[in-house]
Amino acid sequence: MSAKNKTVALCGNPNVGKSTVFNALTGLKQHTGNWAGKTVELSFGNFTHEGVEYELVDLPGIYSYSARSHEQEIARDFITSGEADCVVVVCDATALERNLHIVLRTLEICGNVIVALNMIDEAEKKNINIDIKCLERMLDAPVTLMSARDNRGISELKCAIKESLSDRRQVRTKNESLSISRVYDRAREICKSCITKAENGKKEHSERADILLTNKYSGVLVMLLGLGAILFLTIFGANYPSQILSSLLLGLEKHIASFLVLLHFPRWLTDMLTQGGYRVLAYVVSVMLPPMAIFFPLFTILEDLGYLPRVAFNLDGCFRCCSSCGKQALTMCMGLGCNAVGVTGCRIIDSKRERLIAILTNSLIPCNGRFPTLITVITMFLTVSAGGFVSSLLSAGVLMLFIVLAVLMTFLLSKLLSKTVLKGTASSFTLELPPYRRPQFKKIIVRSVIDRTLKVLSRAVCVSFPAGMFLWIMGNVEAFGSTLFAHATRFLNPFAQLLGLDGVILLAFILALPANEIVMPIIIMGYLSVGSISEVPDILMLKELLLQNGWNILTAISIILFSLFHWPCSTTLLTIKKETGSVWWTALSAILPTLLGVTLCLVLNSIF
Ligand code: GDP
Repeated sequence: MSAKNKTVALCGNPNVGKSTVFNALTGLKQHTGNWAGKTVELSFGNFTHEGVEYELVDLPGIYSYSARSHEQEIARDFITSGEADCVVVVCDATALERNLHIVLRTLEICGNVIVALNMIDEAEKKNINIDIKCLERMLDAPVTLMSARDNRGISELKCAIKESLSDRRQVRTKNESLSISRVYDRAREICKSCITKAENGKKEHSERADILLTNKYSGVLVMLLGLGAILFLTIFGANYPSQILSSLLLGLEKHIASFLVLLHFPRWLTDMLTQGGYRVLAYVVSVMLPPMAIFFPLFTILEDLGYLPRVAFNLDGCFRCCSSCGKQALTMCMGLGCNAVGVTGCRIIDSKRERLIAILTNSLIPCNGRFPTLITVITMFLTVSAGGFVSSLLSAGVLMLFIVLAVLMTFLLSKLLSKTVLKGTASSFTLELPPYRRPQFKKIIVRSVIDRTLKVLSRAVCVSFPAGMFLWIMGNVEAFGSTLFAHATRFLNPFAQLLGLDGVILLAFILALPANEIVMPIIIMGYLSVGSISEVPDILMLKELLLQNGWNILTAISIILFSLFHWPCSTTLLTIKKETGSVWWTALSAILPTLLGVTLCLVLNSIF
């Protein structure tokens, strides 16, 4: 019988290296990272061994098949559906006893199971010896050793898969289900018989680092310093590339216009496409790409290193006080890159109530798209506009303070939600602190550039072109003696003044719904009373323009507060709708931060 298109499923605990095994087998570049909960959906791939093609399915990492969470449900449904001809349970060889629970449960459900002991390199370093023959005998299943990260043991795994598919095991009858305590006992019994560990009495380097990084005081200090360093590198490093990219892309505009004229496009259409759509697109790319290209790799290094779960550990107490989940710290970190990514990341939170709290508060954390406005305003009004190292350092410091404020507001709103519409107490959860691992630079570049930067950028590009055309129409179509843009700013002005803003600023926030990056250029367009967004050559001239339009420190702080706390961008809103399946929760996710921003601005401006 041909084994073509046989289906092989990969399952196991989170963070045991399933995605790495999947990538090593299929050659695909699936997201790997040193924290539990990255793989929340099924991933598919193919590999060929000795002329036979296999379909490989990577299941989300789970600790049991009890279907209490979305991931467990997905994994359990797939395993019990019988679609897999063979199930490979990937285990962390350094924590076999804990991993054996899922092995024993899988053996109860499936007839054809292979146990792949991964991370054998780490087990060797820790002097852990595993007697494979004994393990195979006690589990009554084939066992292979591997270090997927170094491609060690991959061909042996392929051979084991081939062998098990031609084996009579396929028709093995299902085992009876053991009680939970029996599973624990059995796992302990197996490990006692098959594992020996030579103790050298020394603390492992992960343990030593954790004394500093998860300590109540030094842990928080390191976290703040780390955040500050990332922000500084992002701000400082993005300065010049942004300028170069902007002059390059904007320089192309007139050539595109000439080309369209050559094609006999009418003048208005040419202007709308170039001064509207293209100009906004060029602006978004040039202000967004450089910071993202710096921020995402730095973030990915921390992820690969295994630091993110420590952040969740350090903030767990605070979230617990708010009756929400410590894992929300992870989704908050993701939100710093992109709120839509943060909202999707909330799937790692098992309790529906806590997941909703995390989703509804995610946009309080400023994403990369809001950094340009925040940094420009901070640099011009709250630090020094000189540019360069000192200015970037000061701006990063002030930006960090505002991010700390955003985190405090996240706690406050989470508490409020858990006392009102999302009443309940914090559930318990298992948060694994994985060992610190050497980041893999090639993978970091691929993942942060392809998976993150390009994905977020392409989304922004798709919305910025139509948004630019709409903006052009607002700035050029006249009715009753002035442009639609001018009518709208006049209409919004009285309310905006109460918040310490003005009609132009408020309209800029509204029109920037598709992409937060364009707030500042729209403000400039409004003040210059031109029909399309424009750049002011340098920051001093820009400050002059803003001062002429009545800006002062209070205006600057109001804008910063409103930028931190207002409705999420359209992509994030669509993601929230998709994740919650509810218009009500989506609407609330826009209303809550906006109410918070409006209240803070009102209070600030009525006091001063
Ligand atoms: P998953 O959550 O089970 O999909 O795990 P990943 O594939 O994302 O891997 C988790 C972490 O373990 C990542 O940092 C990987 O680089 C690392 N890793 C995976 N396989 C090995 C291995 O064989 N040896 C070592 N030392 N690290 C590994």
